[in-house]
Amino acid sequence: MPGKYTIAIDGPAGAGKSTVARGAALALGYRYVDTGSMYRAVTLLALERNVDLNDHLALSELANNAKIDIIESDEKKITVLLNGRDVTEKIRDPLVTGNVSRVASVPGVRKVLAAAQSAMAAEGGVVMEGRDIGTAVIPDADFKFYIVASARERAARRARDLEKMGYPVDLEKLAEEIETRDCLDSSREVNPLRPAEDAEIIDCTGMTAQEVIDLIVKKVTEGRA
Ligand code: C5P
Repeated sequence: MPGKYTIAIDGPAGAGKSTVARGAALALGYRYVDTGSMYRAVTLLALERNVDLNDHLALSELANNAKIDIIESDEKKITVLLNGRDVTEKIRDPLVTGNVSRVASVPGVRKVLAAAQSAMAAEGGVVMEGRDIGTAVIPDADFKFYIVASARERAARRARDLEKMGYPVDLEKLAEEIETRDCLDSSREVNPLRPAEDAEIIDCTGMTAQEVIDLIVKKVTEGRA
């Protein structure tokens, strides 16, 4: 295992962060942490409990009291447990996706989840993926990558993911949804989506996931950035 580095991978929705982060973690023998799944788990809980999404205090308390565990298999497939219940599939439901950015904009929710994520990164040997990893969760990460791709390619990628899970897909609606989510994520007050100043920006439009993984792994194995 090369070093025990911390690697932050950020970027907008559908840019391929999960595939790339998982592949890099597998190649490096590192832990893979998908922080979006934690925001999704809190959102699912809020929807199930009919919590008013304008009620920041209630959402913060919900996040504070929720027990979210991310368990990874040898192939880096993750299982997300919410208070002991397997919600891996449920958190990908379009209803969750449609509301997660609102929940993620709540400062109290971010505080709780970011603290848990920083703790997971503390030992190193981790590839952590999200929106604010390089800017806020692990500002001193050894490597920071910010992954972008054209809006068209991102919508097509999300469509393939959803189709695989059996959801009906309307490409135009999907592109709109991605745009809305990016807009909310980049304009929120606390730790918005943006590249860290010292992040390397990778435009993976037209690249295969494997090419992006190889690029990241090469940079990490060649040593500190
Ligand atoms: O990565 P994924 O698309 O599953 O993330 C879902 C949502 O969770 C994002 O659109 C964003 O609102 C929120 N998120 C965040 N900060 C992170 C990871 C995800 O705000 N570090």
